[in-house]
Amino acid sequence: MPMNESTRHVDLLRAFAKSACPICALVLRDMQQDMDTLMLERINKVETHLMFRAGRGLCNAHAWGVMRAKGGSLGIAVMYESTLLSLMKDVAKVKPMGTASGFRRFLGGGKSVGDSAANQLEPTGDCLLCTLMNKNESSYVNIVAENVHDSQLQQAYRDSDGGVCLPHSRMVIRLLKNPDDIHTLMDIQTAKWHELQAELQLFIQENEDNVPQSEMGKEGDSWQRAIRYLSGEKDVFGYRR
Ligand SMILES: [Zn+2]
Ligand SMILES: [Zn+2]
Repeated sequence: MPMNESTRHVDLLRAFAKSACPICALVLRDMQQDMDTLMLERINKVETHLMFRAGRGLCNAHAWGVMRAKGGSLGIAVMYESTLLSLMKDVAKVKPMGTASGFRRFLGGGKSVGDSAANQLEPTGDCLLCTLMNKNESSYVNIVAENVHDSQLQQAYRDSDGGVCLPHSRMVIRLLKNPDDIHTLMDIQTAKWHELQAELQLFIQENEDNVPQSEMGKEGDSWQRAIRYLSGEKDVFGYRR
C-alpha cells in the first residue's frame, strides 16, 4: 500500500505517544504490511520473482517472518522453487580448478579457489523485504530530520516516553546539516537518556534494598526500556556479526 509523506508525518507524530521508538514502531508496522502485500499481491509480479531470486530468497529474519504472513505456504513454495532453480544454474558454473599446494597455498591461492566457488553462490541483490524496510525507515528518519525545528514535532518528542532509539537517533543526526538543529535534537534526546539513567539507578538501588516490584514506580520496567531505547525494537536491527 503506497503511503504518502503527509500520512507518514501524521503517523509519526502519533507514534511518539507509544512507549517505543516511533521509527521502530512504524518500520515494524510497515514491514508487516509489506510481508502481507508480498504474499497476496506482489507474488504474481515478474519483478518480485526476479528480486527474490537475485536475493537467493529472503534474509534470515524476513524468511522466518513470512512464515507468519497471510497467504503463506504456496507463495513461499513458488518463490523458493524458482530461487533453487536459478541457484543450481549458478552452481553448474562452479568449476574449481586444480589443488592449491605448496607455494600457491602460501600465497593464499587455496583460499581464492574456494572463494571464487563460494562467490558464485552469493546473492546478486538484496533481500526484497530489507529493501522495502530501508525505504520506509529512511522516509521516517527524513521526516524527523526535516522537522526538528517544527514545534509540533518537538512537543511530541518531548512528551514521548523515551524519544527515538539510539540507532535511529544516529540516523537522524547524520542527516542534520545545521548545528542548531543538532543541538535541538541532542537536547531533547539527552533529557530522555538522563531520565532513563536515573530510573535505572533507582531500580538498582531498590533491588539492593529488596523493594518488591509491586511497590516500584515507573523505574520498575526501566531495564526493559533501556533495551528498547538503546538497541531498538526487536526485528528492526539484526545481530552484529
Ligand atoms: Zn528506533
Ligand atoms: Zn530482509
